[in-house]
Amino acid sequence: MIIIKSDQEIAVMRQAGRIVATVLEVLKSQVRAGMKTKELDVIAARELDRLGAKPSFKGYRGFPANLCVSVNDEIVHGIPGERVLDEGDIVSLDLGAIFMGFQGDAALTIGVGKISPQARRLMETAEGALGAGIAAAYPGARLGDISAAIQNYVESRGYSVVREYTGHGIGREMHEEPQIPNFGLPGSGPLLKKGVALALEPMVCAGDWRTRVGDDHWTVVTADGGLSAHFEHTIAITDAAPEVLTAV
Ligand code: MG
Repeated sequence: MIIIKSDQEIAVMRQAGRIVATVLEVLKSQVRAGMKTKELDVIAARELDRLGAKPSFKGYRGFPANLCVSVNDEIVHGIPGERVLDEGDIVSLDLGAIFMGFQGDAALTIGVGKISPQARRLMETAEGALGAGIAAAYPGARLGDISAAIQNYVESRGYSVVREYTGHGIGREMHEEPQIPNFGLPGSGPLLKKGVALALEPMVCAGDWRTRVGDDHWTVVTADGGLSAHFEHTIAITDAAPEVLTAV
């Protein structure tokens, strides 16, 4: 069942979302070659605490960190640790926060120093796909319209969308109904209504979309070793244009 949020609940989600966006901005400003990915986790924990929020991910099904850090062929759910970032890497940062009982969830991919034109275009495509999905999120549209908008944007630029992981409804729980595949048919699925809150998150691969999970049982990588990028926003369906809740 899709939970419809009241205006008051969306107002709290707006605060949770702003916290996520604020912390991601800090993290973006700190990413540099030579740092360990666990340093980003320390910053995320400190900033969430400073803003009065709790991390959504830490302890979720046993996830050991505050932040997901996924580098190059890693798509999502990378565990920050001893890995040292190199010039030319692309790094996906995914962060969830809980504030006054509500969740915010967002992700972005950033380059470390100078990156290749191919990596740049992949990142631009993932960000553009998120924008295309948001632009389809109007009352009266169907969930499949969002999925199809993301898929069409990505595939028209020669990339693939991950099939095995999806966006999701969000509210008091990080993962609520519905699941939001990044592929699908326009006009299909549940109707979008004011008060529906969704985390849209295209995961885009330079090569094939097939994935596997690493030895740590968390990190999802591309099966073909190609690069991947990930962008996510938490949004709310309104009477008119969708509201991005994880905007700074
Ligand atoms: Mg998410």
